[in-house]
Amino acid sequence: LECNIAKAKDYMARFAAEGVMNHIDGASVPAISGKTFETISPVDLGKLAVVAKGGEADIDAAVAAAKAAFPAWSKMPGAERRKILIKVAEAIEARAEEIAFTECMDTGQALRFMSKAAIRGAANFRFFADQAPHAENGEVTRTPTQMNTTSRRPIGPVGVITPWNTPFMLSTWKIAPALASGCTVVHKPAEFSPMTAKLLVEIAESAGLPKGVLNVVNGFGEDAGKRLTEHPDIKAIAFVGESRTGSMIMAQGAKTLKRVHFELGGKNPVIVFDDADIDRAVDAATFMIYSLNGERCTSSSRLLVQNTIYEEVCNRVAAVAKRIKVGHPLDPETVVGPLIHPEHESKVLSYFDKAREEGATIAAGGEKVGDQGCYVAPTLFTQATNDMAIAQEEIFGPVLTAIPFKDEEDALRIANDVQYGLAAYLWTNDLNRAMRMTDELQAGMMWVNSENIRHLPAPFGGVKASGIGRDGGDWSFNFYMETVNVSFPR
Ligand code: NAD
Repeated sequence: LECNIAKAKDYMARFAAEGVMNHIDGASVPAISGKTFETISPVDLGKLAVVAKGGEADIDAAVAAAKAAFPAWSKMPGAERRKILIKVAEAIEARAEEIAFTECMDTGQALRFMSKAAIRGAANFRFFADQAPHAENGEVTRTPTQMNTTSRRPIGPVGVITPWNTPFMLSTWKIAPALASGCTVVHKPAEFSPMTAKLLVEIAESAGLPKGVLNVVNGFGEDAGKRLTEHPDIKAIAFVGESRTGSMIMAQGAKTLKRVHFELGGKNPVIVFDDADIDRAVDAATFMIYSLNGERCTSSSRLLVQNTIYEEVCNRVAAVAKRIKVGHPLDPETVVGPLIHPEHESKVLSYFDKAREEGATIAAGGEKVGDQGCYVAPTLFTQATNDMAIAQEEIFGPVLTAIPFKDEEDALRIANDVQYGLAAYLWTNDLNRAMRMTDELQAGMMWVNSENIRHLPAPFGGVKASGIGRDGGDWSFNFYMETVNVSFPR
């Protein structure tokens, strides 16, 4: 740990000295207003760096750069764009340790997960780069009198607005397909975690990405974020964040008829029937809520267990929760690090009080850990009912709410009785039941007898208040490109 902390200090030194600047048209620049804010580490609430506080003028400058860079980037043959984006992937891999350490200090996420997330960022670039050469291709359809040629073209400069949970990986998930499509980008990272967005743009430009193709403006949602969503030259907004922010962005973008893609909140059920492989179900359920600090949109935050095995499963989950190592994010043994920020920590702690008020039982955790930094104990609420706030609201921490159910019908009713519909996890050894249940579950993504394993060609996204649109495979390209049809007489 001591050695990792020393390494992190070295990686942070430049940010401490220079601050986290905006990055516009290939240059690192302060906010035009000269304003700054601080980013702190949730490890000890110490200041990591001052950050440029971008506003309208900075967004306007970044959009102008993205607009100027668009003709050359969009007209570059896809095979050439592919080469550059593969170089970006290689450059990310070469600096994966720096990215992971920076992310750990800025967000509190444990190193064991952030090392993988940095590599996943490179994989995202590789995957989407490989599709760039044929992204424009469509199809030809003929009638006796007409020939229709359908193809796609990049939509234009786009805005990418990201949250603070695994910010590097999530940003690449949006930015890589946008660039592969031929779009140019203005990225507004979350104010709680600005550091790795700066690393990404630097890495990308050092690997050959032309200036102005990717621009970063730091700042807050209500000014920098809002202006980006309202800017007439921004053709689409890819947003990841809370459902209520999505709804604000939709309103803000209405005037300019913005195309929007939303990845929003979740309250995802993991449903365990008594015929399931209980060992594996417990492993998966605990992994899906207690990894990444539970600050994960697809976390299994509601555990629905058949009443015949409810007590046994809850006892086992509570035992796992109590054994989990909470600690410094750079400690290789740590599973749960500090939550992102004191504000978010207060939100999570408030649910411990709510659970008590609502009459649930706290079977594990339910308290702050230590008196320094934003550490909370992995928590399990039992004897909960689905109408409680702890079952309905996204807590976004290592906090699991366990609810018993009677049969299939009851499980479905409870699972679907939330505003969200991002992911669902189902554990049963009855194939027919699995088919009946997955037919009725309201979720954009379901995993049967499995934890969340991401396959990049498969669609990713939610229904209900969890999102609009799909990422992954060709779905990403459909968002960043316009489909155009030209009809010729025969
Ligand atoms: P948030 O909505 O508070 O902020 C996300 C981003 O939006 C930030 O960059 C913020 O500055 C910006 N923003 C805020 N108000 C804005 C406005 N009016 N106009 C433009 N931009 C604005 O979300 P958060 O707290 O940073 O992130 C956590 C949330 O993200 C959780 O709800 C989580 O479920 C969700 N999330 C969803 C997915 C998914 O794939 N569905 C993935 C990761 C995170």
